[in-house]
Amino acid sequence: MNRGMWILLMGIACLLPASGRSQDEPPKFAIVLHGGAGGDPSRWSEEYQQQRRDGMNAALNLGVERLRAGDAALDVVEAVIRLLEDDATFNAGRGAVLNEQGQHELDACIMHGKDLRCGAVASVTQIKHPISLARKVMSETRHVLLMGEGADKFGLSLGLESAPAEYFQTDRQKKAWQAWKNRQTELSHQNPGDSQANDPRKDSESSKEPYFGTVGCVVLDTHGDLVAGTSTGGLMGKRWGRVGDSPIVGAGNYADNGTCAVSGTGIGEEFIRRNVAADVAARMRYGGLDLKSAAQQTIATLPEDAGGIIAVDYKGNMVMEFNTVGMSRAYANSSGTRGVFLGRENEE
Ligand code: ASP
Repeated sequence: MNRGMWILLMGIACLLPASGRSQDEPPKFAIVLHGGAGGDPSRWSEEYQQQRRDGMNAALNLGVERLRAGDAALDVVEAVIRLLEDDATFNAGRGAVLNEQGQHELDACIMHGKDLRCGAVASVTQIKHPISLARKVMSETRHVLLMGEGADKFGLSLGLESAPAEYFQTDRQKKAWQAWKNRQTELSHQNPGDSQANDPRKDSESSKEPYFGTVGCVVLDTHGDLVAGTSTGGLMGKRWGRVGDSPIVGAGNYADNGTCAVSGTGIGEEFIRRNVAADVAARMRYGGLDLKSAAQQTIATLPEDAGGIIAVDYKGNMVMEFNTVGMSRAYANSSGTRGVFLGRENEE
């Protein structure tokens, strides 16, 4: 190549945006969050539907603002989930569902797609923001998952904010727990020895409350990094010590910069059996599928009414797939696409 050609090429390169993207190419950032699958939104009161939309809008606004400012996906996911953990409308942090003993036990996970670093906590009861504790497990230990008292003590030793049981256990969840308990008693009288009382879908019928309200957030930031985070109180009436999919890397939460970031919500046991979140990434990586097809195929492997996922890929494509009646979800990207939904209203 002669010198003139070289100078011409360099000149053209300088005129291109730093990212190499032109205006109508994929968005520079994308964020999707969920507030849990399950329950029939059309049966919820107007007020409750609005609370859910308000909570997700506030979290989405925070996420978009931080991403627009160039913040890292890890910080954005943590901040968004902390806000949802503080919002008693959702089953994470304050307002978490209660286990069979009427106690709260919280699970959370965060994963960075750049280097597969991840941290998770299970069955914690004292730390106010389990997602921040999960991040500390990732950044301050050589482990991936801490549980119970050890996890709480670890958080306290780092000075993370704690809260008493009354903070986490709201009146709404105490009422829902009582309804669940009454239903258990009823079922055990009807069918002594029948364990179907533990089917969470039955419980949602009895309480007329959304059974799930787990929160999750997946982000592609302006630096090209993918991060996924999930936080939950698990399933109402779960056994003491039960751990769901949310803190299990690959099952309820996964991120890999080469493919996608995924957060799940639904009946955790089904997600663990199928390694749902990592399965979406695997279908992209090994099967060459696009994000939408991969997510749909993974959801098709789940039993009916088991849950859903949100995901974003390295190009900024966003998907929300579920086989429940509804899944509270919100999404936005740098091109101005935005939506907040509870059921299938945007699919008509
Ligand atoms: N997947 C959660 C669990 O099984 C529950 C949920 O998504 O609402 O713990």
